[in-house]
Amino acid sequence: MLADSHIHSFFSPDSSSSIEEIAITAQKKGLDFFTIADHYQVWEDKEYTFDVESRCLFLTNKQKQFPGLLIGVEIGEIQNNPSLLQQWKDLPFDLFLGSIHVAGKVFGPFATHNVPDETVYEAYFSEVRRMVETTDIDAVAHMDFPRRYLASYHIPWDMVDSILSLIIEKDIALEINTSLWRKGLPFSMPDIHILTRYAQKGGKKVILGSDAHRPEEVGEGIEKALILARELSLTPGYYKKHVFHPLEVL
Ligand SMILES: [Zn+2]
Ligand SMILES: [Zn+2]
Repeated sequence: MLADSHIHSFFSPDSSSSIEEIAITAQKKGLDFFTIADHYQVWEDKEYTFDVESRCLFLTNKQKQFPGLLIGVEIGEIQNNPSLLQQWKDLPFDLFLGSIHVAGKVFGPFATHNVPDETVYEAYFSEVRRMVETTDIDAVAHMDFPRRYLASYHIPWDMVDSILSLIIEKDIALEINTSLWRKGLPFSMPDIHILTRYAQKGGKKVILGSDAHRPEEVGEGIEKALILARELSLTPGYYKKHVFHPLEVL
């Protein structure tokens, strides 16, 4: 079985993929499940949001046509409004994918301060920790995301260790995000060092996400991520109605 748990559609301002286009590629790539996880950023500007109820209704209707379709949301900076997920818990969502795109004034679209890369990673992971501590997300997206933009890589292991422990304690999954592979970079997000540490600490649950913003990117790298997960003795799966289901080996 294969599942891509992180796909953007036209509900995201940075994608124009239709559900039909996504479903066609999903079928071509042999995906059993594909989760539409559009951006909903808890930012001051409302550009990266959508009408939650009408989107759920729209996608629920599409599920009749495409039974592998799952309804997710890539919820950004949810630690700034954790009660939102309680308000959404009775809507037909399958996956709350928590993600961080902003760290204070040092990382992301609102960054104004130029600081060393180490400082960026620390600020970033401290937001990840706050998100994991305070919200009811199902999975953490691209845990070491600044790597996409920065020349160097620094893992503040004390912080990352405490986040991984909390993820395991709260029964949250880690995403293996494959998007950097198709940009020609040799690592997933998070990379193998963090995934290995997660496994060593007893972590099991991972979901696999292409972070496709174009139809042709759907399913990209998912098989490779599945192999990586199994090599590390992790359990790749997908979320349906916020319940983790392991991908069966057929
Ligand atoms: Zn993201
Ligand atoms: Zn995304």
